[in-house]
Parts: sequence; structure tokens; C-alpha cells
Amino acid sequence: MADGAAHAALELIEQSRETSWDRPTVAGQLFLGRVLTRLLVPYAAQSAEDAAIGDRYLAELEAFLRAQVDADAIDRTGEMPADVIQGLARLGAFGMKIPKEHGGLGLSQMNYNRAIALIASYCGSTAVWLSAHQSIGVPQPLKMFGTDAQKRQYLPRLARGAVSAFALTEPDVGSDPAKMATTATPVDGGAAFLLNGDKLWCTNGPVAELLVVMAKTPDRTIGGKTRQQITAFIVEGNSPGIEVVHRCQFMGIRGIQNGLLRFTNVRVPKENILWGPGRGLKLALMTLNTGRLTLPAACVGAAKLMLRITRRWANERQQWGGPIGRHEAVAAKIGQMASHLFAMEAVTWLTSAWADRGDLDIRIEAAMAKLFCSEAAWAICDDTLQIRGGRGYETADSLKARGEAPIPVERAFRDMRINRIIEGTSEVMHLFIAREALDPHIRRAFDVILPDRRLGQRVSTALRAAVFYAGWYPRQWLPTLGATPAAIPAPLRDHWRFVQAASRRLARTLFHAMLRYQQGLEKRQLVLFRMVEVGVDLFAMAATISRAAWLAGARPPMGSGPHRALQGPGPDGDPVLLADLFCLGARRRIDRRLARPELPDDRAGYRVAQEVLAGRYAWLETGIVE
Ligand SMILES: Cc1cc2nc3c(=O)[nH]c(=O)nc-3n(C[C@H](O)[C@H](O)[C@H](O)COP(=O)(O)OP(=O)(O)OC[C@H]3O[C@@H](n4cnc5c(N)ncnc54)[C@H](O)[C@@H]3O)c2cc1C
Repeated sequence: MADGAAHAALELIEQSRETSWDRPTVAGQLFLGRVLTRLLVPYAAQSAEDAAIGDRYLAELEAFLRAQVDADAIDRTGEMPADVIQGLARLGAFGMKIPKEHGGLGLSQMNYNRAIALIASYCGSTAVWLSAHQSIGVPQPLKMFGTDAQKRQYLPRLARGAVSAFALTEPDVGSDPAKMATTATPVDGGAAFLLNGDKLWCTNGPVAELLVVMAKTPDRTIGGKTRQQITAFIVEGNSPGIEVVHRCQFMGIRGIQNGLLRFTNVRVPKENILWGPGRGLKLALMTLNTGRLTLPAACVGAAKLMLRITRRWANERQQWGGPIGRHEAVAAKIGQMASHLFAMEAVTWLTSAWADRGDLDIRIEAAMAKLFCSEAAWAICDDTLQIRGGRGYETADSLKARGEAPIPVERAFRDMRINRIIEGTSEVMHLFIAREALDPHIRRAFDVILPDRRLGQRVSTALRAAVFYAGWYPRQWLPTLGATPAAIPAPLRDHWRFVQAASRRLARTLFHAMLRYQQGLEKRQLVLFRMVEVGVDLFAMAATISRAAWLAGARPPMGSGPHRALQGPGPDGDPVLLADLFCLGARRRIDRRLARPELPDDRAGYRVAQEVLAGRYAWLETGIVE
């Protein structure tokens, strides 16, 4: 990327970031060497009352899925039957997150996420219809930023089943919104706007009754600088000038409606602006900050099904003198799957509970949950396919046609892959977490090294930073202070102490990297990514230890029936063992990354990549048919 374009992209994202930190951030503090034990232990569980509401709703949803939804047929035909959508609307599934006063079910974030996990375990396409509608579609930003009048006007309609969509991406706008080309031009003295442009990959877009559309409004001059303005609009799907140019087809989630939408002079009254002119990108980013918490829940649901398929098959399939699950190589995979699924749940339900409590800032935790769960679920799905062998690669329809159980691993594999791309690619999640984690340092120190700062600004920032770091930095070398919470069982106590010590090691290493690379740190993505991965593993360890302690200790309030939220272990399913296995692996990863944040391969790899890009290794590509 040319430096000017990179600068413009960064500047726009910087202007649109949520800058305040009014509430504590547990994961953010891990990068500063602090483990906020009192917020992590005991595990923030769902209340018994809220769990019971969720249990009842999930039972209804399950009955509907079993009776009405044929996930393989949806995948095969690429069509979602109208009666499925109508049935879901009757169940209130399009209004799960909409408050009761506006006609929705008013479910907590936890129960909504549990519902999406359940649906995703059964049919990825159905889960995406609902999630695109209410995790990022009109209800979420409307709830967060709409006026009372807008809420009264649209929320009841959305709750009844008016499908909605979120339109940010464009052909040239993927991870980089600075290149947005869709415009909203004021007309009639500003009473209305005309939208023009293309929106790509808009999920639900082709059938949406309502869309939230991000578009460029005229630039403004603020403090002598020209600032790009992106504004969010609520748009009626049947407005004249909206055309579905193409319905996109994908490798998985084939039953979704997703398209390239063209807006030609689409007139939108100014009353449909959400939150205010120029705040559209911030709205989109903040919508995603909570909205992306649903995706890890979907990954949890899908991964649970994979574990069940694996358990049955690895017991049943006999090769080389016994069930395949007894062979060490297969058993190791099963151990990884179970312990990672446990960690995925620990992270997802903890962050969901925090979202409901509302007293913590969860933007880093939600991004970590998205990154961790989408990567872990992909590995779990890949291992399931491997353990199923040839049957893993065969379609459910084909298995059925030759008389075997139609186990849909092949479909799940295709459906699962998208989670590492949508709502922020894994790479962009790393960058996002790094930016947010570094924020306290950037605020304190970066005025000193940025070239465009005045001398006075630099000196005063340097003095303030010196006072802070004179206290903070030596503390990162102190041994662990403070007792390990009594609730943590003996086998996990050493892991907890590791989290505390490694958090300080992470803080030191990150600080050293800042001193070493200064402004150049932003370009050392591999170093930053390793630090982020350490932070993610530390958060996952802390959540996993806490959940295991909670499950193993005071018995959680148990619901009844198959959907009880707080499923405790059976008599021989010790959660401590799962947490221990997860922590052993995480510790090894953390030690490796902190020991060598920069590897010799980094520069060598970059150099080879540039040579490849310049075509100097085109000879490696010979002997193929393109
Ligand atoms: C099935 C599906 C559904 C979707 N639904 C919606 C929707 O409802 N609404 C909507 O607005 N969008 C939607 N999208 C778009 C989706 O959010 C984007 O695909 C995603 O943001 C990535 O953008 P991109 O594909 O253009 O990738 P690009 O931004 O072009 O990135 C390409 C690759 O480069 C990497 N990369 C980019 N920038 C950097 C960087 N600075 N550093 C390191 N790596 C980088 C990325 O991680 C990725 O691997 C959907 C996409 C799909 C496929």
C-alpha cells in the first residue's frame, strides 16, 4: 500500500475508533501486566432465572428445527424455504435481541448467543440469516444509536420478521473503509440524500426489507483539516433505485441470501440518518464490537456437533485391531478438540455474561472471542473430517444414498470456513486487538515520537510518560503478588500463577518492542501478532481456569432438559482435566512467542514474498494448466 493511502486509512479508522475507556477492560489489562482477578473469579455465570428463559426458548427452537428445517436440502438447493423464515418469525427469532417494549423477545445477549449456537450446530445458513439480521443488521445499531422515534418506527417491524442487512463492504472496501465509494449527496437543502454506489456481499441484502447503509457524505473541514465523512442510513429495501445486480454463491452457508446491491439515486430522508452525520464508520465499528460476539457462539455450536460426531465415530470405527480413538494419534486430536471446545465455551459465555452486565468494556474480549473461536472451530472441524476419513469428505446425501448415516461433516467444513473472514478477518482482528491493547501506551508516549507534534507537546508528554513508566516498568519485573483465589482447584493453581507472571512478561516484551521499533512497530505485524496471540491465550487460560473452578466447585444452578444453560460435568467428566490440557498447550505457545517475538524467518519470509510478488519466482509456477 502506498504510504499516503495507508496514512489516510489509518487516520480514518483512528477518527472512528471508540476512544473512551469508561469501563474496565480485563483483556486489555493483560497487556499491561495486570490480571483483574476479582473480575475473572468467580466465573460470571448466567443467573438461574435468565438461564430458565433461555432453556425454554431453546427447547422451542429445537423442536422447530427438527420438524421444519432440512439443513442438507437447504445446502443442496441453495434456497431457504419461505416456511422456515415464516416459522422463525412466528417464534420471534427475528426479534430475539429486540426489547419487549418494541415487540421483541428481549433476550439477554447470553440467551441470544445460546440460541444462535444451537441453530448453528444444526444449520449454518439459518444461523447466518438470523445473525446478519440482528447482530449487525438494523436492530443492533438502531438499539445502540437510534432516536426514540426511529426505535418506535422500526423495531416492532424488525421484531415481526422484517429481514434486515448491514451494507458496509464494497468492491474496493474490504478491511479498508477509507476507499468507500458509495456516496450520499444532500438534496432539497439537506432534507434528503441520494445514495449512489455498489455494496458487495451484503448478507440478507437481496431480500432485506430494511438495510443500514454506510455512505460518504460531503467532507468537512475540522481544525483546518479535511475530514472524510461516512454516514449511516436506514434504507427501505423496496426504495426505487435499489437493484440486486447479482446473488453471490459461496462454498458454504449456501442457503443465505447475499448479493451485490446497486444504489442509483436512492432517495433517503434525513430523518433516516442513524446517530448523526459523519458518525457512520464509528457506528459500524461499534456495532461490530458487540455484534461479533455472536459469531464465536455459532462456532461453539458447530464445534459441539463435531465433538459428538467424533466421539461416536472414534468409538465405532475399528481399524488395526481396535477403535480408532484408542490409537494415540487420533486420541491426541480428540483431547485437543475437547479441551479447545471447553476453552471456546469459557471465553464465549464469559464475554456474553459481561456484555449483559454492561459494566465492563468488552471490545477486546469480543474480538479475542471471535478470533480464538473461529480459528479453534476450524481446527476442530478439520480434525473431525480427518477422523471420519473418507466419510468426512463425502457429502451427507451421498452417504445416505449408499445406506450410511448422513453425517454432515463435509457441509460443516464448508460452512465453517467463512468465520475466519466475516466480521473482521483473523488478520484484521489481530490488528484491532493490537491497536486497542497498545492504546494506553499510545496515549502516554506517542506524542513524543510522532514527527508532526510540536516541541512543547513532546516535552510535556515525555515528562508525564517518564513519571508513569518510572513506576510501571519496574513493577513488571516483580514476582507475582497476591494470593491465588481459593476457588481454583490444586491442579490449576500453577497455571493461574503462570497467567499472572506471563501477563507481566507480555507487558515488558510489548514495551521493549515499542522502544525498539517506535513508529515502525505498526509495520512489524508478525511481532505484534505474536503479542496479540499471547494475550488471547492468556485470556483463554484465565477464562478456562475460572470456568473449570466454577464447574468443579460450588455446583452451578442446573436447569432441566437438554438445553439447560449450565450443564455440569457428569460423574467422570472432570472439567479440571480439560482446563489443564488446554493450559499446558497454551503455556507452551506463550513461552515460545515471548522467548522470540521476532524470528529470523520474518525478514526472510518478507523478502521471498516480495520476490514472488515481483514475478521472480514465476518459474515455480510452470507446468500447470491455469
Ligand atoms: C459470505 C460473506 C458474507 C458477508 N456479509 C457481509 C455483510 O453482511 N455486510 C458487509 O458489509 N460485508 C459482508 N461481507 C464482507 C466481509 O466482511 C469481507 O469479506 C471482509 O471484511 C474482508 O474483506 P475483503 O474480503 O475485501 O478482504 P480484504 O480486505 O481485501 O483482505 C484480503 C486479505 O488481506 C488481509 N489484509 C487486509 N488488510 C490487511 C492488513 N492491513 N494487514 C494484514 N492483512 C490484511 C485480510 O485479512 C485478508 O486475508 C461478507 C463476506 C462474505 C464472503
